[in-house]
Amino acid sequence: MSLIVQKFGGTSVADPERIAAVARRVKGCQQSGDQVIVVVSAMAGETDRLLRLASEVLKNPTGRELDVLLATGEQVTIALLVLALQGLEVTARSFTGAQVQIRTDTAYNKARIVNIESEKICSALNEGNVVVVAGFQGVSEAGDITTLGRGGSDTTAVAIAAALEADECQIYTDVEGVYTTDPRLVAEARRLDRITYEEMLEMASLGAKVLQIRSVEFASKYRVALRVLSSFEEGPGTLITSEENIMEEALLSGVTLNRDEAKLTMLGVPDRPGVASTILGPVAEANIEVDMILQNMGADGMTDFTFTVHRSDFDATMSILEHISDELGARAVEGDNKIAKISVVGVGMRSHAGIASRVFAALAREAINIQMISTSEIKISIVVDEKYSELGVRTLHSEFKLEQA
Ligand code: ASP
Ligand code: MG
Repeated sequence: MSLIVQKFGGTSVADPERIAAVARRVKGCQQSGDQVIVVVSAMAGETDRLLRLASEVLKNPTGRELDVLLATGEQVTIALLVLALQGLEVTARSFTGAQVQIRTDTAYNKARIVNIESEKICSALNEGNVVVVAGFQGVSEAGDITTLGRGGSDTTAVAIAAALEADECQIYTDVEGVYTTDPRLVAEARRLDRITYEEMLEMASLGAKVLQIRSVEFASKYRVALRVLSSFEEGPGTLITSEENIMEEALLSGVTLNRDEAKLTMLGVPDRPGVASTILGPVAEANIEVDMILQNMGADGMTDFTFTVHRSDFDATMSILEHISDELGARAVEGDNKIAKISVVGVGMRSHAGIASRVFAALAREAINIQMISTSEIKISIVVDEKYSELGVRTLHSEFKLEQA
């Protein structure tokens, strides 16, 4: 007998018919002899609706009361799913995050799980129940309701799988797995059978929104076998696992596109110690996340300093730079929010030289100008003009023959 955690996202529980389909799938899993814990999200659009509602009574709602509100979305779906299971003669019990003691810190709206009491879940399972747990929510030491940040149900599922040492954590969603790239951009995109935690973390942070990043971090830390699969189509999905479990290592696993960035440059700044911190200090203080950073070689005591931020932070960052530019005696400040970041990801990069030069040559053949480059052990990212987004992704996908298994 295996212990399986199955998580169903908002689209999979969007209406009564889909909830009934989830119930049938859960019943099938239980009938094949497994113990099942189900984690559900709120019905599609519900969390957004609650957020809108909150902002109609208060501008920029945050904190404790927002979590009391947001947690209701998942409380609806656990009850509906158990009712649907009862209709199929499956004994099941629903639990809120507080009831099963998904203990978190008190960072409302983005709380972190610190502990899960497995006792209550275990005894409900051992009594023969399917256990249905509300995703996305937890409870603080003091007993206050918290939520884990958007997409947090994925993390609930993985954390429960880790705490109970489940055999597999299955994330059911509206795609068939993790793809080599976005199938909407490249028709030849291929579903991956397996991918490493590390690669998945890079892909997720680069904008492939299949899983909440924190859930992948959790899975990696506790070695949870994590599988992404479709709740609408049958199929094996994609297994996210450690490198030892991947027999034949591909050169690359995927190409990602991120259009959410903007680039800022401070031109002609004095090349002396402390410049980077003078520029980026106030940006950090404004809670603006910086991604890529590039400083040119100084010439005649002057240098250029370029970095990227989320596109939504572009205006705020621009005004910070204009402010410090006088202080620093910089020549000018320039900005461009029509850029895109294309990245290739793969653990195979560690053992193969020459991938970067193939990336650059392939883009050059298409006359795509590269504005910035950054690399890590398993990733190469380049910034290009936004108008080359799709061409760039397609070019790299075919250069590395990612359509072929
Ligand atoms: N319902 C929450 C959200 O929409 C959590 C989740 O779906 O994972 O972000
Ligand atoms: Mg989700």
